[in-house]
Amino acid sequence: MTQHEAADGAAPQPPLVGLRAIVTGGASGIGLATALLLSAQGARVAVFDLATALESGVQQSLLGVPVDVTDDQSVTAGVGRVVDELGGIDILVNNAGIGARGTVEENPMAEWQHVFDVNVFGIVRVTRAALPYLRQSPSAAVVNTCSVAATAGIPARALYSATKGAVLSLTQAMAADHIGERIRFNCVNPGTADTPWVDRLLQAADDPAAERAALEARQPHGRLVTAEEVAGAIAYLAAPSSGSTTGVALPVDGGMQALRLRPVQR
Ligand code: NAD
Repeated sequence: MTQHEAADGAAPQPPLVGLRAIVTGGASGIGLATALLLSAQGARVAVFDLATALESGVQQSLLGVPVDVTDDQSVTAGVGRVVDELGGIDILVNNAGIGARGTVEENPMAEWQHVFDVNVFGIVRVTRAALPYLRQSPSAAVVNTCSVAATAGIPARALYSATKGAVLSLTQAMAADHIGERIRFNCVNPGTADTPWVDRLLQAADDPAAERAALEARQPHGRLVTAEEVAGAIAYLAAPSSGSTTGVALPVDGGMQALRLRPVQR
C-alpha cells in the first residue's frame, strides 16, 4: 500500500490535502503553474502578486491576494489575510522575481537596488512574516525559485545572477537555521523556461525566432523548460513525503548545469 492509499482500497488521497500554501508571483508563468499544481494536489493556495497581475492571471480555485513583495506593510497584510482565510501556512513558495540584462557596468545602481529588493529582500520579507505560522505546521516547507544563473556564468546577466546567487546561499543558510524547528528550505534552479517573461525577452530581440533557437540550443535537451516541469519540482520539494530533503538546489534545466556535451557535428 502506498503512503497516500486509503486502507479500504478507495482512491488514493492527493498528497497535499489539508495543507495551506502561499505562492508569490503566482499570477503568471512558473508561479501560476505551481499554484495550480499545489491546488490540484489538494492544498488550499493563496497567490501573492501585484494587483495588476492578479486581474488577468488568477483562477477561482486560488485565493488571489494583492501583495508587492517590496513593501513590508503589504506583505504583513497579505500573510495576515491568508492566516484569517486559510487558518495557517504550511508551504511557502518564494517565486516572485524580475529580470535584468547587462554587465556589471551597465545597470544603474537604482536598478541594482530594485532587482535585489524584489528577488532577494522579497524572500526575506515574506519568509519572516510567514515563519511564526510555519512553526505551527507539522510539515512546513519553503521552496524558493532560484535559477541556473546562480551556478553558471551567463553573459549580460550580472545583476540578475547576483540576486540568484544570493537566493541559493540564503536558502542553504535558512535550511541550517530552521532545521531544528522542522522547517525545510529548498530551491529549484530552472534553465530558460517558456513563460510570459521569456516571451517578453524574445519579443524585444531583433530576431525573436533566432533568439529562441539560441536559447533552446543552450540547453542540452534542445528545448525550453516548461513552467509545469518547474512546478512539478517545487511540488515535490514542498510535499511532506520529501521530509528528509532540505538545503538542496534542484536543477530543472535540461542538463544545462551538469552536462558537458560535444558540439553537434553538422
Ligand atoms: P513571470 O514574469 O511570468 O512571472 C513572475 C511573476 O512575479 C509575475 O506575475 C509578476 O507580476 C510577479 N512579481 C514581480 N514583481 C513582484 C512584486 N514586487 N511583488 C509581487 N509579485 C511580483 O516570470 P517567470 O518566468 O514565471 O519567473 C518566475 C520566477 O522564476 C522568477 O523568480 C524568475 O527569476 C525565475 N526563473 C525564471 C526563468 C525563466 O526562464 N522564465 C528561469 C530561471 C528562473
